Amino acid sequence: MKINIYNTLTKKKEEFKSISEGKVCLYSCGPTVYYFAHIGNLRAYLFMDNLRRVLKYNGYELKHVMNITDVGHLVSDADEGEDKMMKAARLEHKDPFAIADFYKDAFIADMKKLNIYMPEIIARATEHIECMEEYVKQIIANGYTYETEDTIYFDTSKLDKYGLLSNKDVREDEVEARIDEDPNKKHHTDFALWIKAPENHLMKWDTFWGKCYPGWHLECSAMGHKYLGEEFDIHTGGVDHIPVHHENEIAQGKGFCGKTPAHYWMHVEFLQVNGGKMSKSLGNLYTLEDLKEKGYEPYVYRMFNFSSHYRKKINFTFEAMDAAKTALSRLREGYLKHLEGTENIDDEIIEKYKQKFLEAINDDLNMPVAMSIVWDVIKNPIKSKKLADLILNFDEVLGFNLKDYKLEKEELPDSLKELIEKRNTARANKEWAESDKIRDELISMGYTVKDSKEGTILKRNEL
Ligand code: AMP
Ligand code: ZN
Repeated sequence: MKINIYNTLTKKKEEFKSISEGKVCLYSCGPTVYYFAHIGNLRAYLFMDNLRRVLKYNGYELKHVMNITDVGHLVSDADEGEDKMMKAARLEHKDPFAIADFYKDAFIADMKKLNIYMPEIIARATEHIECMEEYVKQIIANGYTYETEDTIYFDTSKLDKYGLLSNKDVREDEVEARIDEDPNKKHHTDFALWIKAPENHLMKWDTFWGKCYPGWHLECSAMGHKYLGEEFDIHTGGVDHIPVHHENEIAQGKGFCGKTPAHYWMHVEFLQVNGGKMSKSLGNLYTLEDLKEKGYEPYVYRMFNFSSHYRKKINFTFEAMDAAKTALSRLREGYLKHLEGTENIDDEIIEKYKQKFLEAINDDLNMPVAMSIVWDVIKNPIKSKKLADLILNFDEVLGFNLKDYKLEKEELPDSLKELIEKRNTARANKEWAESDKIRDELISMGYTVKDSKEGTILKRNEL
């Protein structure tokens, strides 16, 4: 079945056609590892995961690259301010490389907790300085640059058109030029490719132009080219990448080899909090850990994201998270009810559900519609293993790891079952001290303990 995706380059939904049959080459702009990823960032990676899963569900083999930016991303995306890594190093009194290691590991741990499929290739900027050097040298040789005292700039006026994604025009942009910009820049839209490192700059390399570090935009172009070639299928990122970062990647591709690197450009809209921006200073910036402390496991946040299409803003509220929590329990319990069911259901009905689900996900990843079909299956009064299998099949796209949820339920070790028995007996005999002692023991083993009419219920805490 064909997949339609919205392409920011053409501003239309288009039928997806891969360059090589059956294979998709994909590049996703990854994190800048100077702090923990906040849940807004995580929306971007849940979208990336969703796209991967939909492509895989449709039978494509994937070659997917994601960068880890650990140098060169300045506080403003448009080359102004301090390097984010250096700023974090200064504030935390640590070496910037140690900061990068720490937050890269934290990021990967978050990906695992959310059950996000990791790209085949994770490319760390500081491990690709040589390939960036080669890339920038080619752009220079092709005549698309000029030098100031400390920066090699890309000259955007050399392109037939700059601003293909956001319909910008170089001349128009002169009007927008800001006072704090480098006065030696020829055009407002020109951007830094290669930067001479000041004496106190800790992240620098010996290069053809002295001790330098690369510009953020260059990193993605050079690493994308290294692993995926001059042209590949899809490039993803957040909507904030459209006006600067991705325009500059396209400019670099043109300057390097005359080609726009990707055929399809996909962008995920922002997560908002109470209708506004999420920021540390407003006290409304949350990490996965913050959500956990408030009682929401990472899969609840995954479920919350399916309530909106990726191209629409989504508003984060705790009411919406509560609704997502309830939805996740309904999904799990509904799946188990079908799994335990003994009734039969026509294959034709199964096929119809499958068809509708596929139509929804292949319509530019329409997850709210896909979820409505999942709920139809869950609510089906016929309780049948076939429907449980169908839900597991859908879960390849949903990513809730329902298969393991079943195992968790079934596979409580005997030692735990014994403790539960003991606690139930203690409670029946009103031996509260003993019952509390066992509860604390279970909690220390990483479980949440609940009391119900049926006795003690255990739930393993997310790691
Ligand atoms: P950064 O680590 O700052 O480079 O950002 C990582 C990713 O998160 C980028 O793809 C951004 O577009 C995305 N992003 C940042 N803030 C939000 C937000 N509030 N909602 C969705 N995506 C975001
Ligand atoms: Zn990028």
